[in-house]
Amino acid sequence: MNRNGFKKKLGDCREVTRSWLVYSPLRKSAFCLCCILFSRSEDHSSLEQEGGFTQWKAPERITVHENAKNHRGSFAQWKEMELNFIKNKGVIDARILSQIEAEKLDWGEFLTRIFHCIKFLATQNLVLRGLRESLHMLGDSNVGNFLDLLKLIAVFDPVLKEHLKNAESHPGSTSYISLNI
Ligand SMILES: [Zn+2]
Repeated sequence: MNRNGFKKKLGDCREVTRSWLVYSPLRKSAFCLCCILFSRSEDHSSLEQEGGFTQWKAPERITVHENAKNHRGSFAQWKEMELNFIKNKGVIDARILSQIEAEKLDWGEFLTRIFHCIKFLATQNLVLRGLRESLHMLGDSNVGNFLDLLKLIAVFDPVLKEHLKNAESHPGSTSYISLNI
């Protein structure tokens, strides 16, 4: 395949550049950018596989890929993302941005409570840790002043309640209340 493979001939002798077709000098192969990004089909052509397209003597396979339903879907999705990107002034998706902002605000609220609890315990010269620290401990188990104070406030505070519930049901996830942090 020569440079012409990167162009598509239209019926009226005009040519358009195949913007989706990219060449890797390192791998010496061609790839379909939009299918690599958006294809959901399990029937992958070589243009969207790790090795890429190297059948230079069969450039018609590029056209076959170009006309495939899966490629057309991926191409449309790519162009739609590009339009959204321009419309939102560089932000890929305004919904994702607002979700990130909401999460930032929520973590900020939570960390403010953590900070005030630690400050209170430190001011009163009270130790933070207990014998065994776990949100799962029930009854009179000594989980420490810090966790017990958080649990007490969570009875009245929905922000803390939600975070503690999440930390309890997803051990190992980010919670900012483990003894290491
Ligand atoms: Zn494709």
